[in-house]
Amino acid sequence: MYNNKEYDVIIIGGSYAGLSAAMTLGRSLRNVLVIDSGKPCNAQTPHTHNVITLDGETPASIIEKAKEQVLKYETIHFYNGLVNEVRGNNKAFEVYTATGEMFKCSKLLFATGINDIIPDIEGYAECWGISVLHCPYCHGYEVQNANIGILGNGEFGFEQCKMLSNWSKTITLFTNGKSELSPDQSAKLKNHNIEIVEKEIHSLRHSNGQLKEIVFFDRSAKEIDAIFVRTNFKQHSNIPQTMGCRLTDEGYIFIEDSQQTSVEGIYVAGDNCTFYRAVSGAMAAGTKAAAFINKALIEESF
Ligand SMILES: Cc1cc2nc3c(=O)[nH]c(=O)nc-3n(C[C@H](O)[C@H](O)[C@H](O)COP(=O)(O)OP(=O)(O)OC[C@H]3O[C@@H](n4cnc5c(N)ncnc54)[C@H](O)[C@@H]3O)c2cc1C
Repeated sequence: MYNNKEYDVIIIGGSYAGLSAAMTLGRSLRNVLVIDSGKPCNAQTPHTHNVITLDGETPASIIEKAKEQVLKYETIHFYNGLVNEVRGNNKAFEVYTATGEMFKCSKLLFATGINDIIPDIEGYAECWGISVLHCPYCHGYEVQNANIGILGNGEFGFEQCKMLSNWSKTITLFTNGKSELSPDQSAKLKNHNIEIVEKEIHSLRHSNGQLKEIVFFDRSAKEIDAIFVRTNFKQHSNIPQTMGCRLTDEGYIFIEDSQQTSVEGIYVAGDNCTFYRAVSGAMAAGTKAAAFINKALIEESF
């Protein structure tokens, strides 16, 4: 139905950043196609927090409501599918889907997010977003005064203990191997009654993702309600890189203040280009990228 059709903008990724951009572009009378493969990073978390008007809602219900509002703008079209290749350059991009369709556009926005790399610890994947948590601002309130673990070592482990001490006074640091903390850091943690456990972790015992115990290779175990972690990540889509978009040393897509990448006509928004990871941040970035895209289109045609 849409094949070969030409759009002002194609947005790849139709989650928080992509749909926010779509709304701004719809309100700017732009012809837009949003293509989304339906795999947002927070899908497993039961409730989203720290987003005004949406606090406590499920990720799926937020997306559903957003889509309903965005698709009321008649120039916005939504396509469920995976983009696997993009060719061309500014004013003349071609976007190819995994099922063989091709769409054309003047400007491209990648709102493709990142993929967390889940470590090979039994039970970790099941607990991810439920009781294995990445962000105290998203989930700290719900585990206030609980028996909290930090999985981390060295500077990160120390800093997370300090941070989470704001939410609970019962904290254990699991270094999963020999501690890399300085004597000073270890002493500070001890002063705050934070235990350091160096044993190697075998698995997480849980019930439907709710953590019960951390089990070690020596078969001992420690009861814990939730752990905070920092996962490694990779870009959810490597197409921006194949198009020549520069990455930062940390692995995010480099952006100008306008959200444009190092390649003219290609913009990005959301988790793929920032360390600051939040639904509200992704929405703001999508809105901003869309405004700059619209401005560029006006500049080119006026
Ligand atoms: C477990 C977890 C819980 C979280 N909880 C909270 C919370 O409570 N509060 C909060 O503010 N933040 C929370 N966050 C952070 C928040 O979810 C992210 O900041 C937000 O999802 C980023 O939005 P995004 O649009 O950039 O990317 P995503 O939401 O990850 O969406 C990217 C979209 O792009 C699509 N896509 C990728 N590649 C392609 C392609 N090639 N073709 C088509 N589509 C593609 C994907 O399918 C996906 O739908 C949480 C994150 C995680 C991981």
